[in-house]
Amino acid sequence: MGRWVWGAIRRSLRPAGLVLVYDPGYVTRIGASPMDPLRAEMVLAFLVDEGLVRRRELVRPLAASLKNVRRVHTDRYLESLERREVIEQIVGSPLTDEEAEGLVRAQRLAAGGTVLASAIAVRTGQVAVNLGGGFHHAASNRGMGFCALNDIAIAIARLRARGFSAPILVVDLDIHDGNGTRLLFAEDSSVHTFTIHNQDWSPSEAASATVMPLGTAVSDATYLTALRSTLPEVIGRVRPGLVFYVAGADPATDDMMGDWNITAPAMLARDQFVVEQARQSGSGLPLVVVLGGGYGGNAWRYTARFLGWLALGRPVEPPTNTEMLIRRAEELHRVLHEGSRRHPPASDWALSPEDIAAFLPGAAAPRRLLGRYTAQGVELMLERLGVLGQARALGFTTPTVELDFHLEDSDSVRLYGDASRAELLMEVRFRRDQSRLPGMEVLYLEWLLLQNPRRVFGARQQSLPGQKHPGLGLLRDVTAWLVVLCGELGLDGLMYAPAGYFVATFGSRFIDPARQARLESMRRALAGLRLVEASRAVEEGRVVNAATGETVPWEPAPMVIPVSPRLRERVEGPEYEAALESALASLSYRLRLPGESDAEE
Ligand SMILES: [Zn+2]
Repeated sequence: MGRWVWGAIRRSLRPAGLVLVYDPGYVTRIGASPMDPLRAEMVLAFLVDEGLVRRRELVRPLAASLKNVRRVHTDRYLESLERREVIEQIVGSPLTDEEAEGLVRAQRLAAGGTVLASAIAVRTGQVAVNLGGGFHHAASNRGMGFCALNDIAIAIARLRARGFSAPILVVDLDIHDGNGTRLLFAEDSSVHTFTIHNQDWSPSEAASATVMPLGTAVSDATYLTALRSTLPEVIGRVRPGLVFYVAGADPATDDMMGDWNITAPAMLARDQFVVEQARQSGSGLPLVVVLGGGYGGNAWRYTARFLGWLALGRPVEPPTNTEMLIRRAEELHRVLHEGSRRHPPASDWALSPEDIAAFLPGAAAPRRLLGRYTAQGVELMLERLGVLGQARALGFTTPTVELDFHLEDSDSVRLYGDASRAELLMEVRFRRDQSRLPGMEVLYLEWLLLQNPRRVFGARQQSLPGQKHPGLGLLRDVTAWLVVLCGELGLDGLMYAPAGYFVATFGSRFIDPARQARLESMRRALAGLRLVEASRAVEEGRVVNAATGETVPWEPAPMVIPVSPRLRERVEGPEYEAALESALASLSYRLRLPGESDAEE
């Protein structure tokens, strides 16, 4: 039987479309937390093993764009996420730098998953499951309880920005209060937050909310009664056009953090009730499921049972952890020892080598740019300065920042037009330097490229020396960013050695006043020419000494944009100005006349 036939049969077994959004980058290990980092992987392994999902059908998200993240969280808060102490407070335990960065990176990716799942659900009217997310404690200006970024709020903010105006219902059945989400929508009656939990984490007042704290040691009957007696009425009243369901597994009786006694059958009954209510309330009501909490090695099995039922239309019991462990070990062994899988394995839940790399402890942790910024920190700065907005305006829809530390002393930042990294828009390479100005430290710019790779030079547009594509019109903004970096890092200024006349004309000064005098004399000689023509004249040796007729060559030397008062004093103070004046007095340049020969030959 051909492959496609099997595919058709498998597809026909699925009663309703089920879209799974997931990326191995969701996996995080956090200090002493009882969170099972492989929860989603185990769920996925089970679903694939049962033939309910194929790995290649997974939809992979991009990290939520900061444009969308900033619709929910304040810049001050997002900046604070650069600090390890802030993340430690959010998770309530000490972390390494790598763990702290990893948590934010993973939650941003998972938030991108909720954004994507909501877009799919709205477009198709199907159930879309994000195998992560549900960071419901995060509010606009603070995170708590393992939650740094509120993925559901980010997804809602994006839908609203795109014109989705129907009422939205968030059903949060994690054992903990979905307080962050409630606070974020406290004044927005178009979003109803429904939560049943053990105790309140924040005041319960909100424009449209159902808040049910049930206390400790809750039984199946109490739990299911609370749900069944309220949710249908809420759905009838709210009449949502979209439902988010935080299907936390932590009410389960064996959860490592929860203190309730909910059995496995009751957990499944709960999940089924929410889905059926959502389905009954309208024809094809879009539903987004996110995982929420669930702690300890058994948490994944509750989620697996739920999603197995959702995909198959009838209950299917997941294997025990031991059974899974054996299957997993066999597969890992095969992949690691054979390099790649030669035959399709009996089950195709298998991991790819790149998946495995993600689980290996101590996988390479990224260094920080200039010892300070993560890729996200850099992206936030570029977003705030409008650089990414301008890139989007030029048609580069998902500008992607990449840090590179391949050169020993220098750090590079690259900005690509999209996540495939095919189109390079910006490349900056720099390092901190204490050797060039005694007693001072500068940001030394070694390389700066700004280009629009989709444009070519037309007849009316001439290229500057070294330019392959026209620029982006972002030089000023990028320079501003570099100056901001100097300020934040306490550096004296930005230094670079311009390779040509055109680079030297952006409002900075040579450290040596004699060089500055030569530049200004050149400028006078070139007055009236467009920058491109002037640069060409210098390149072609057409600027000559008025007295001798000798060509004035371009000699690269360090220039600075001063940031600190002492460097400003150094290149703008009276001593510098006096030296510049006297050097200028003895210099006179002019353009070589047509037909005039080179005096040196
Ligand atoms: Zn929880």
